[in-house]
Amino acid sequence: MYGLIYYHGGSNPGATYQGRRESDDALRLAMAVGRILEENGYDVIYTRTSDVSQSVGQKAAIANEEGADLFVSIHRNAAEYPGKYNGIQTLIYDDSGIKKEIAENINANLERLGFRNAGVSIRPNLVVLNSTQMPALLVEAGFIDSDKDNQLFDSRFQAIAQGIADGIMDTLENQNISGGGNMNGNSTGNGMGGGQNCPVCPSMPEGGSQEELYRVQAGAFRDRQNADNLLSLLENDGFPAYIIYQDGLYKVQVGAYARLSNAIAMEREVRQKGYNTYITT
Ligand SMILES: [Zn+2]
Repeated sequence: MYGLIYYHGGSNPGATYQGRRESDDALRLAMAVGRILEENGYDVIYTRTSDVSQSVGQKAAIANEEGADLFVSIHRNAAEYPGKYNGIQTLIYDDSGIKKEIAENINANLERLGFRNAGVSIRPNLVVLNSTQMPALLVEAGFIDSDKDNQLFDSRFQAIAQGIADGIMDTLENQNISGGGNMNGNSTGNGMGGGQNCPVCPSMPEGGSQEELYRVQAGAFRDRQNADNLLSLLENDGFPAYIIYQDGLYKVQVGAYARLSNAIAMEREVRQKGYNTYITT
């Protein structure tokens, strides 16, 4: 079977905090996880092994061309302002299949190391989750703007890599498909949500129906108070923000547009003010 791991890189450092770059942490962690998988007999394909730029579409294309059985994307998270959140979170396309079990395993393993477990989140609009033809996971290995999480990340680094690798291998072995069985992870379901994305992991939907509106979203929260706080910040910066309640989450959005180009223009403005925005449908 193949494990496949990707991360930010090159001109796209992902989240940053006090000179620390998400792309560096993610590369280091992905290489460490990959090494453990390789030592256990898995074939690992890296979308990059050095500090180079790749689009999320390129990363998904590499996985598809290689016929990978599993896609694992390694990240570090960031909130609207440093220290707001801490904890680990794993994102998947929908609430089903082995990807869900692997996500829960990884979260449980990392929680044991001292991280807050922010759960499994369903993110059908992320390109790396919806354009990959195999089960795919996006692991947010703690918040890069949390001193607590960085301390854990540095002091328990090898244990974190082992926890992610074990989460993958335990599931595959339980399913008795470690020898390279056929894994199918796509069906429908609902999710738990929560947490904030790192600024660059979320990406634009590709394709999609013309009837859909492209929404510029700045955050999604289970807790109404968190959504209200972000709404106030956006309003103070002059943005026409509002909150919608959907799938158990209070989503803070800044606009809904029929044209993707308009959503992109608004997103750029909001992002320039320092918000972690992304476009959703
Ligand atoms: Zn990221």
